[in-house]
Amino acid sequence: MTCDARIYDMDALVREALETGFSQAGELSMKALIFMPEVREMCSADKCRQYNKNWRCPPGCGSVEEAAQRAAEYSTGVLVQTIGRLEDDFDYDTMSETGEKHKKNFAALVEKLKPRYADILPMGAGTCSICETCTYPDAPCRFPEKSVSSMEAYGLWVSKVCEMSSIPYNNGPLTITYTSCCLFK
Ligand code: SF4
Repeated sequence: MTCDARIYDMDALVREALETGFSQAGELSMKALIFMPEVREMCSADKCRQYNKNWRCPPGCGSVEEAAQRAAEYSTGVLVQTIGRLEDDFDYDTMSETGEKHKKNFAALVEKLKPRYADILPMGAGTCSICETCTYPDAPCRFPEKSVSSMEAYGLWVSKVCEMSSIPYNNGPLTITYTSCCLFK
């Protein structure tokens, strides 16, 4: 049964996120959804080597203006985080494992929520890695219903979004935190 998101239960959503395996979760402040061209400019610096290489990354995922327009249709949201404990600053294995765990749990949470909420907008962490090689730009996305753009790709400054939502972005020395969110109408 599809439920009306206007009568959503944020405590239950947070509980469900934690049960799915996230380390932290909380209500997203909708005021924190400020879509910034400056964040897109950081994407175009291509430090992650995904700029212009994936349908869910800029510029393939659409403009910041389109992102803001789309998000304006939503009225509430939940923020979820996965925290990894590092052995030292060079513990790349834990960084990568934590990122994978976060992606897997986020996909699982979205799949659980979809049947109950008429329309949700998930924003993930990192590029879409469903396919070994993205079809961009030669053919349409293979899984348009499953693939998700990152919060950064939408033009969001993730640390600011966390701060404005009263959820820590940095969880202390020798930790790495991945953050995603899901919007509801
Ligand atoms: S699902 Fe595949 S084709 Fe679509 S954006 Fe992700 S990697 Fe690219």
